[in-house]
Amino acid sequence: MAAWDRRTTAQLRAQREAAVRAQVLHAVAPFSPYWRDRLQALGRSPAAAASLAGLAQLPAVGERDVCPDGEPAGAAGLVLQVGESGFALHADGPVLRRALVRRLLRRDAYRVIVETDTRPTSYVWAGLGLRFPVASSRSDLDLMARAGARLWQLLGLTRADVVVSALPGGATASAQALQLGALGAGSPLLAVGEDVDALAASLRLMPATVLALPSVSAAGTVEELVVAAVPLAALRTVLLVGAPYDDERDEVVEALRRGGLDACAVLAVHVPEGHRLMWAECRESAGRTGLHTYPDLEVVEVVDPETGEAPLAADGSREVVVTQLGFRGSALLRWRTGDVVDGVEDGPCPSCGRTVPRVTGLRAGALVPLLDLRTGTRSLDARGVAAALVGRPDVADWRVVIAPSGRDDADEVVVHVVPADGADPAEVAVATAADIRRATGVLPTQVVVAGAGELPADGAQLTHRVLARREPVCGV
Ligand SMILES: [Zn+2]
Repeated sequence: MAAWDRRTTAQLRAQREAAVRAQVLHAVAPFSPYWRDRLQALGRSPAAAASLAGLAQLPAVGERDVCPDGEPAGAAGLVLQVGESGFALHADGPVLRRALVRRLLRRDAYRVIVETDTRPTSYVWAGLGLRFPVASSRSDLDLMARAGARLWQLLGLTRADVVVSALPGGATASAQALQLGALGAGSPLLAVGEDVDALAASLRLMPATVLALPSVSAAGTVEELVVAAVPLAALRTVLLVGAPYDDERDEVVEALRRGGLDACAVLAVHVPEGHRLMWAECRESAGRTGLHTYPDLEVVEVVDPETGEAPLAADGSREVVVTQLGFRGSALLRWRTGDVVDGVEDGPCPSCGRTVPRVTGLRAGALVPLLDLRTGTRSLDARGVAAALVGRPDVADWRVVIAPSGRDDADEVVVHVVPADGADPAEVAVATAADIRRATGVLPTQVVVAGAGELPADGAQLTHRVLARREPVCGV
């Protein structure tokens, strides 16, 4: 078969069909407590969900579905719980044979193989509206390191590259993916944290060819390094971690230009919240063709963020959902990432020719903006707002507008509702406010009862009907 990034549509489809079958039937359905219960509640058998078509029928789920009361403990239900006897039933042939042979030779070897494949050994923190741990087994880390070797190919890096990372400290999926990528590719990587003085000191010792920076603060950091005359002559690539907005990328390019580093490639990389694979722009594209994904390790789809189902409105925004293939630990099926995208392109990349799906126009975490409310800084999950309002019998139509107050600039969440015929407007206002608070943890600043045709229309769409009249600030 062709290399992972050159396969035909038919080859990819056959390979993914088999991978989805194995993942659902032999990992997620039997061993994930959340999905075992969920399939049962939906009345679906594991076999019915274990194909690309069956998977597409499953409602997408996100952090609020798994942790409905806002308690991160619910995320433990996503972690596969595998016993030795269950493993024998579900492990694939070669792994099982190896385990059985080892058992003959050493008494505890069988357990060691089961644990290597399934037991969580490392955790990172994830989440937009709440923080929850994501578990990886040793086999997952191995998968991530192998995907990392591909990441290096996409980015046009080699083992001769030297990476200095200024990502914030703490266990994050981005830091983990970058570190395992360097390991898989055989590149040295030094993670120094986000302190600019520490970064400058490291760069004086280590001639980095690659600098990994959080996209939100990258331009300021480059500027400071240039002003401090930190030696950057070896630098040929800047990685913007977290999918930059266009203006953030432009500012980085401009800061590099002022430092005489015009030849430096500026490429975006991104791990969606809850996921563990780092998507990247290919070097050939210089950022013009979107983030490249890994078709044999994940299924990437888009849904309408108001309903969690396949996009219906042509003008509505689209949320990315991912299904992981071959992962153990926390195993995700149709996971809602909170990232809004223009689309997922399946054709070959016009720049590098790779036949991998590409995610275009990604706004990371856009569905869960961080708000500066009078009561403090809170993230507001627009999906939860929509969930509290979609399909209500007492509401005919609605809009939610997030905008800074003209009075003191604090963010306000104003709900506009058109009550259904016969519904009491005052009761509708009270009920919708209470339901939004229950679904998101944030009480709307105001509920405005409107007539049909009086709903506001201006503002950037977070979802079809949740509008923002403010600069996007994301909770990642
Ligand atoms: Zn490409």
